[in-house]
Amino acid sequence: VLAADYRGPYRVRAERKPEPAIHHPRDAIVRVTRSCICGSDLHLYHGLVPDTRVGMTFGHEFCGIVEEVGAEVGNLSPGDHVLVPFNIACGQCHFCKQGLFGNCHEANPEATAVGGIYGYSHTAGGYDGGQAQYARVPYADFGPTLIPDGMDLDDAVLLTDIVPTGYQAAEMGGIQKGDTVVVFGAGPVGIMAARCAWLFGAGRVLVIDHVDYRLEFASRYCPAEVYNFAAIDDMALFIKKQTDSLGADVCIDAVGGDAAGSMLRTLLGKKLKLEAGSAITLHWAINSVKKGGIVSIVGVYGPTGNLIPMGNVVNKGITIRANQASVKRLLPRLIEHVQAGRIDPKALITHRLPLEEVSDAYRLFSAKLDACIKPVLYP
Ligand code: NAD
Ligand code: ZN
Repeated sequence: VLAADYRGPYRVRAERKPEPAIHHPRDAIVRVTRSCICGSDLHLYHGLVPDTRVGMTFGHEFCGIVEEVGAEVGNLSPGDHVLVPFNIACGQCHFCKQGLFGNCHEANPEATAVGGIYGYSHTAGGYDGGQAQYARVPYADFGPTLIPDGMDLDDAVLLTDIVPTGYQAAEMGGIQKGDTVVVFGAGPVGIMAARCAWLFGAGRVLVIDHVDYRLEFASRYCPAEVYNFAAIDDMALFIKKQTDSLGADVCIDAVGGDAAGSMLRTLLGKKLKLEAGSAITLHWAINSVKKGGIVSIVGVYGPTGNLIPMGNVVNKGITIRANQASVKRLLPRLIEHVQAGRIDPKALITHRLPLEEVSDAYRLFSAKLDACIKPVLYP
C-alpha cells in the first residue's frame, strides 16, 4: 500500500510498503480517508526530534473507515467512519485515569515524558502513522471516535489534533472574562487557540507572527488584532503598551522550539540579543505576561527549549502550564462546538493533495509557500 516514507531531513516521499496488520486483540486497521500534515511533523521533517528513523511513516492527524478489528474491539465494526486522536492511549493506566491521554504510560512505557503518538519517532513509541492508505490503530477499543452523521470529514480530521490543541491551549491559560490573551504563532494551532480564547470569555485577543498571509487570515478568522514581530523591537515593551502597562493576562506559546530556533538563526545579529539555542517565544511569553499571569505552552520543544528566563518566572509569580493536548477528553464538547458552528475547522485547510504528492505538501507547508496554512492528504 502507498505510505509516506521518511528518508532523512527534508526528505519524505510516497512509497509502496507492506499493508499494516493486527498485532494485538485491541488493534484495528483503518483505511485512511484524510490525513493532515502538522507543524509537529515539521520538527521531524527538519530532523530535530531524537530517534526519528529512516523508513518511518509520519502522520498523527487522520480519519478513516474501519477495515478490520481485533478480537477485543467490541465498540467498532468494519465500515465505521472514525476520527483517530493523535495520542495513542490505553484508557486505563495511572495517567489515562486522570484524563491525561497525552501521557499514557502503557503506550510508551520506556519514555519518561511523552506518551504514544502516531508517526512521531521512537521517542514517542515508534508507531507508524496515518500519512498512508492504511494505518494500524492500537487500543482501538478506546481511542477512535465515531464521526457524527453529517459531519464533514474535513472538519473531523482537524478534531484529531488542531482543534483540541488550540482549545486546550486556551483552557490551560485559565482565561477569565475580559482577559487580554496574546497568542504567539499564527499557524493552525495558534489560530485555533485564538479562536477558542473567545469561547472562554477573552476580552481581547492578539496574535503575533511574521508571516503576513497567516496574520491576515487570523485577523478575519479568530478574529484577532495581529502584529508582525519583524516590526517590533522589544516584545515585552510592545505588549505593555498595548495593555495599560500591565502586560497580558495570558500568553500562549503556539510556536515551540523548532520554528523559534530557525527564527532565531534568521534574526540573530539583527536585533535579538538572546543566546543561540534559547527559545525566543518562551522569552517573549514570560516577559510579556503580567505579574501573576499564566503562560500556556502547547508549542513542542526539543532540547533547544531549556534556557528559559527562570528569574522572571519566579519574580513575576507566573504560572506555566503545558502539555500535549488530551484529545479524547475534549472531543465531546468540541464536536458540539463544531456542530453549533462556533468553530469552523475546515476553513483552515488551504491545500488538498493526493498522497502521491506528499513531498510537495511537506515542502510548501515547511517553507510557507502558496499561502499554505493547513495541507491535507487524501490517500
Ligand atoms: P506551524 O509551523 O504551521 O506554525 C508555527 C507558526 O509560528 C508559523 O506561522 C511561524 O511563522 C510562527 N513563528 C515562528 N517563530 C515565531 C515567534 N518567535 N513568535 C511568533 N510566531 C512565530 O505549526 P502549527 O501546526 O501551528 O503548530 C505550532 C506548534 O504547536 C508546533 O510546535 C507544534 O509541534 C505544536 N503542537 C503541539 C501540540 C500539542 O498537543 N501540544 C499539538 C499540535 C501541534
Ligand atoms: Zn499535529
